[in-house]
Amino acid sequence: MTRLTFLGAARTVTGSQYLVETDASRVLVDCGMFQGDKALRQRNWAEPEYDPARVDALILTHTHLDHIGRVPRLVKQGFRGPIWCTPATRDLAEILLLDAAHLQQEDADYLNRKKLTKHEPALPLFDDAAVQESLTLFRTISLGENREVARGVTFSFRDAGHLLGAASVDMTLEEHGRSTRVLFSGDVGRFGAVLTKDPELATNADYLVVESTYGNRSHPPVAVHDQLQGVLERTFGRGGVLLIPAFAVGRAQQMIFLMDRIVTEGRMRPFPVHIDSPMAVDATRIYASHPEAHRVSLNGIGGRSLLYGKWVRLHRTRAESEALNTMKGPAVIISSSGMLSGGRILHHCRVRLPHPENTLLITGYQAAGTLGRALLDGARTVRIHKGEVAVLAEVRDLKGLSGHGDAGEMLRWLSAVSSPPRTIFLTHGEEDAAEALAGRIARERGFRTHVPSLGESVVLPPRGASNP
Ligand SMILES: [Zn+2]
Repeated sequence: MTRLTFLGAARTVTGSQYLVETDASRVLVDCGMFQGDKALRQRNWAEPEYDPARVDALILTHTHLDHIGRVPRLVKQGFRGPIWCTPATRDLAEILLLDAAHLQQEDADYLNRKKLTKHEPALPLFDDAAVQESLTLFRTISLGENREVARGVTFSFRDAGHLLGAASVDMTLEEHGRSTRVLFSGDVGRFGAVLTKDPELATNADYLVVESTYGNRSHPPVAVHDQLQGVLERTFGRGGVLLIPAFAVGRAQQMIFLMDRIVTEGRMRPFPVHIDSPMAVDATRIYASHPEAHRVSLNGIGGRSLLYGKWVRLHRTRAESEALNTMKGPAVIISSSGMLSGGRILHHCRVRLPHPENTLLITGYQAAGTLGRALLDGARTVRIHKGEVAVLAEVRDLKGLSGHGDAGEMLRWLSAVSSPPRTIFLTHGEEDAAEALAGRIARERGFRTHVPSLGESVVLPPRGASNP
């Protein structure tokens, strides 16, 4: 009997994890961290609903923490099978998991120092050693290649756009002479996105598990290049520095790529770009080493590329970072974190925000309560490192860089599905978004849909059998 259990990202966007079971095999798809409010985060500490030692394999769709962040803990709990992913996902997972271990250790140290914990002492969810142990289990497989990962379970990856290395999982389960095909969308990127390729359209399958992050929204059409060029010209016209807080993996590289295009298309003269984040430096190298995974070959741009040329400077050490404080514009500084919740960007804000010639350019979602949100909402003074900082710099929001398709794009992703699946499960979305997309798919395509709850388990009868 084939069974699918929704262990995360059900009626919520984080904690992606699905367990697929047959009489002979058990395979997990994704093993993500729950993020957001405390009740969700507590789930990261819960004992698993299955015996990790009896799981044959884990397949990862991509390297965002809400898809891989519980991997080191799973390994600590006894999982010893192979962890399958694309080559780029393997490379990015290493830097992201090590960074996450480091941040968790810092948080635990802080709680212990301030005696803010009921647990004595507070512990990180996982440490460096657990990450290193997990990495020994990683096995890579290219897009389109077929692999048997457990008895009767084969799969291949399909390009999902979204992020370097991101993939959908096309799985076939053979049991008692009958086969069942299940397609897990992973996170589906946008069509015509900056840098990432268009997602490969969904294929016919018996069951689909489909993300619904923006299932109740449509992204307005915006020309990202034009917006960015306007901000650059205005800032440089004042002799200012453009400060860009960006998530080190994905967003930072998109920004470099956009600026590269603006210069190589002759729209602006070259200008210095400083990447001040050790993780962004590592991630940028990984992006450059996977030319096959981008919309435009970064190698094709060659020596003139901002990615390699003299205009982009990479800063790793604290001393290099501090040396930027006295730099005059025109110049761009890209630094993390993207929501200004910590990291080197805070030092740059303290130095640059009090001066009207500079600009702070927000490039992603800013959660409530973050410094980024306060600045976007027009705060004229902010607190950084226990000091008041006047905000005289221009603050702007660059729209159009979302990593997820909207409702229309998800229907486009499903457009090549010609034979009605037995069920499409909508996951990885807040309840409203998941229900909205389920409704649209049912109305516009006539397919049977279902929004599963956390922990729900369904039997998947093969084609030809009657529905449960
Ligand atoms: Zn993602």
